[in-house]
Amino acid sequence: RLRRSQLTRRQMDLPIYMDGHATTRVDPRVIEAMLPFFGEYYGNAASRHHRFGWTVRDAVADARAEVAALVGAPARDLVFTSGATESNNLAVKGVAEAARNRGNHIVTARTEHRAILDPCARLEQQGMRVSYLSVGNDGVLDPAALEAAITPTTVLVTVMMANNEIGVLQPIAALARLARARGVAFHTDAAQAAGKVPIDVEADGIDLLSLTAHKLYGPKGVGALFIRHGVAVAPLVDGGGHEGGLRSGTLNVPAIVGFGRAAAICADEMPGEAARLSRLRDRLWDGIRRSLRGVTVNGSMRARLPHNLNISVDGLHGEQLLMGLDDVAVSSGAACTSASREPSHVLRALGLGDTRARASIRFGLGRFNTEAEVDYVIEKLCSLVTRLRAPTPVFDLAEDDRNLPPKWRVY
Ligand SMILES: *Cc1c(COP(=O)(O)O)cnc(C)c1O
Repeated sequence: RLRRSQLTRRQMDLPIYMDGHATTRVDPRVIEAMLPFFGEYYGNAASRHHRFGWTVRDAVADARAEVAALVGAPARDLVFTSGATESNNLAVKGVAEAARNRGNHIVTARTEHRAILDPCARLEQQGMRVSYLSVGNDGVLDPAALEAAITPTTVLVTVMMANNEIGVLQPIAALARLARARGVAFHTDAAQAAGKVPIDVEADGIDLLSLTAHKLYGPKGVGALFIRHGVAVAPLVDGGGHEGGLRSGTLNVPAIVGFGRAAAICADEMPGEAARLSRLRDRLWDGIRRSLRGVTVNGSMRARLPHNLNISVDGLHGEQLLMGLDDVAVSSGAACTSASREPSHVLRALGLGDTRARASIRFGLGRFNTEAEVDYVIEKLCSLVTRLRAPTPVFDLAEDDRNLPPKWRVY
């Protein structure tokens, strides 16, 4: 057993990256596509009167078509932004402002990313009303809860497609149908879902959809917002009138080209890649639960991204786990942002107590992870947890008394 792990160790590059919900490595094919646009093709896509402008304008048009195709949208309805944070801000604040005369109410969910919750909080300071819907213990939103929350003053419903911590997928088509039936615009933050699971804004009835390149093996600092033709959005940034006046500023051409290439690769390889990653993810979970007691999955295992695993390890703190896993890059719900010491608002929304929420680790598998890496992580985590638990007599007592009712167990 020792020999096998030593062998694995030699074959592998350490540290191992399994934090694919924070960001992903840029695919080498994407880098290759971008490079000429830092060098010979340096024109401004808005320059109409010379070849330097035309070349990059065509490259941007190709990229727009590739990104739009990934979500089944017409290319003309896509606005390039600096990422999903900006796209979400543009959707939430832009729709709220454009609809100011029609209503002042937004509906969202408690498990949203901060890039939705914080713009909503700012609008609340400015007099808007926001309803934050609860989710089930599995992280899934009940469409009936949305139906009950929509009022005649509701102007926007925004619910993420896939959660960035627990990978849970929301029933977007059902939610969008309810919003539309009441004449309310439906936005979804698809930063985690895009390129990983099929998306079709037409079939799903989505009015606005946020994307970011760096979660799908593209560069950081570029994203997009799909805005269905006819949906009114006020811009956040005024200037030269780029992107149909919705997002002024000279286009980041190399990043946009990379985004297009990354989207095209995802579209091509999605079926095979999703199947491979869900096999790896299941191998990871099976390996962990076979060797460790007191480990639970957070969030639905059925409505879930193929590459996400989020678990809580009883009796331990996420920070202990992260420190112990010194050559594996993962995240914990112990502190969702480095600035905050609060446990994850997502895990709290599932009904987890502080202790359980703090005992969580999130694995985000990706295109460049291998089976050998998964096996290494299983072994490393299991021996770490066994070691951390061993010297604590209190925990042994709890384990020996497993038949006691849960409230008597020591976590
Ligand atoms: C990463 C992420 C964002 C922010 O995207 P940026 O491009 O980094 O601004 C927003 N929402 C979700 C769900 C994310 O995972």
